[in-house]
Amino acid sequence: MTAGFEGQLRAASLRVTRPRLAVLAALRDHPHVDTEQVIALVRADDPSVSRQAVYDILRALTDAGLVRRIQPAGATARYESRVGDNHHHVVCRSCGAIADVDCAVGHVPCLTASDDRGFVVDEAEVVFWGACPDCAAGRTPGSEGSR
Ligand SMILES: [Zn+2]
Ligand SMILES: [Zn+2]
Repeated sequence: MTAGFEGQLRAASLRVTRPRLAVLAALRDHPHVDTEQVIALVRADDPSVSRQAVYDILRALTDAGLVRRIQPAGATARYESRVGDNHHHVVCRSCGAIADVDCAVGHVPCLTASDDRGFVVDEAEVVFWGACPDCAAGRTPGSEGSR
């Protein structure tokens, strides 16, 4: 199951290590988690991985383009392993829940600036803000993300 991750790491000229595979697996299973959640997920599986190691791995994977870092205004940085498709995010103002929103057009960039000022645009990042279904219905969402 991790064969794909090993190929990704090798393609990015990164050494295949168990902690790196663990971070990628955690992000596949739990998209849009913050650094603390990644640390908790990885260390739940292998307590020998240090917090600093997870920080370093997240930075290396982000630099290599295997992980995407998203940081909605006023929120902590979140990470996801769904990269390269220029998808967008919808964020709940109330509880901070984040969900993926597929690109409306399907190729990069999916939005055309009315005036690109001569820049060659290759990415459009949109954050939709609102209330998630739980918050809109007045329910208290789970403790997800509050740790
Ligand atoms: Zn919410
Ligand atoms: Zn996403």
